[in-house]
Amino acid sequence: CGVFGIFDRDLSAVHETYYGIFALQHRGQESAGITVSDGKTMETFRGMGLVTEVFHNLPEKEGHIGIGHVRYSTTGSSIPVNVQPLQADSIDGPMALAHNGNLVNTKNLRRRLLLEGSTFSTTMDTEVIIKLLARSRRATEEEKFKELMDEIHGAYAIVACTNDAIYGCRDPFGYRPLVLGKTEHGWVLASETPALDAIDAEFVRDVLPGEIVTIDDKGVRSTMYCPVDSHRHGICSFEYIYFARPDSIMNGQDIYQARLNMGRKLWEETHYEGDVVMSVPDSGNVAALGYSAASGIPFVEGLLKNKYMGRTFIQPGQKKRERAVRMKLNPIRMNVEGKRIILVDDSIVRGTTSGIIINLLKNAGAKEIKLCISSPPVRYPCFFGIDTAERKQLIAAKYSTEEICKMIGADSLHYLSQKGLAESISEIKASDMCFACFDGVYPEKVPHDGLGSMED
Ligand code: 5GP
Ligand code: SF4
Ligand code: MG
Repeated sequence: CGVFGIFDRDLSAVHETYYGIFALQHRGQESAGITVSDGKTMETFRGMGLVTEVFHNLPEKEGHIGIGHVRYSTTGSSIPVNVQPLQADSIDGPMALAHNGNLVNTKNLRRRLLLEGSTFSTTMDTEVIIKLLARSRRATEEEKFKELMDEIHGAYAIVACTNDAIYGCRDPFGYRPLVLGKTEHGWVLASETPALDAIDAEFVRDVLPGEIVTIDDKGVRSTMYCPVDSHRHGICSFEYIYFARPDSIMNGQDIYQARLNMGRKLWEETHYEGDVVMSVPDSGNVAALGYSAASGIPFVEGLLKNKYMGRTFIQPGQKKRERAVRMKLNPIRMNVEGKRIILVDDSIVRGTTSGIIINLLKNAGAKEIKLCISSPPVRYPCFFGIDTAERKQLIAAKYSTEEICKMIGADSLHYLSQKGLAESISEIKASDMCFACFDGVYPEKVPHDGLGSMED
């Protein structure tokens, strides 16, 4: 998911939030929503689909406070009611909240709230979060967030608002990103820096793991839930491999640079011979350029991407995904025919995409395809907000690299080593990152189900 928030008395919150979430569209295409407050009343506008579809006509509500969300479903299925931001009435007035991430103790919290008489109208963990906040009797919003953070475990980057302020909050592990920016007369929170660029705001800094940021007429204040250096972090390495935009700078690391590095490491680990380097667009582009630059083998476009398609993996359901790949990518024959191709992509999750693409390229006359993947094999599920599927659906959880190579019809297959990956994300200590979907080492306790048996 992508989250955004703005507090600016000189701008229209609804307009800026629209552009902000539009720049975050890659983080979720299922639904979009905007909450606006003018300091007295609050209203939320939401719907299923892309930002441009949901906000074909911008709401007319004026206000200097806005938050926004684009959704990519992990917990809670893809149904209209599971759209964010969620708005609720708290003891101290209305509040709205948008969440990126996934909690690991939702079941328990939900059970407890139900026993205490709460009712739920969605299946999202976000509703658990807003219920906990809304019923809190603590005196200040910061204290309410602290109380919340005592209760919830897992991944959360939250942007929330009341009629007085906006709030940003990041879990102590910092799995999901959140940045602070400045407009001429106000302040912005966003999942990624391109959302700041989109509204001509200046990047100030990352919100820190375990930090609560308050923005109101008095400016910006920071409250630490726990000291930032008191524990290891669990920054998601998948953001750097695939999820984030390549023009983002996240936790001090330029995503484009990290992906170039991954491509260079892939070359160092393989030294494949070939006529051309090609990427699976768009997610393989930067790593392919890195491979080409390091090897001296020319980069050519081998697959043309239909610009009007969304991210294929994100569409739920296997059938839909297969159809989507064919609609999305078409070979450029003159660059493919008779060529020994080094093909670069970011990840293999279920194995659907790679198999279909290799088939497309072979049918277009490719002589040989050596596939390089800029991440290690995905063997374990993610519990922190990225839909890398249940374990039994992960092709690398069941099969060896050699077997996968055969299954997808490649001539060779190489996955970037975890060491190579960690070194590529050069600005962040490996011990402060999460690589759990590759090595199964989760930064914190995760629910047992999903890790379980591979038989069923
Ligand atoms: P699969 O192997 O499941 O067919 O798909 C892997 C491809 O899906 C990769 O090329 C990657 O670019 C793309 N993809 C899209 N969304 C996601 C996501 O949320 N997680 C992962 N791991 N890959 C995704
Ligand atoms: Fe990211 Fe993988 Fe960790 Fe999930 S398990 S937070 S996708 S590194
Ligand atoms: Mg891809």
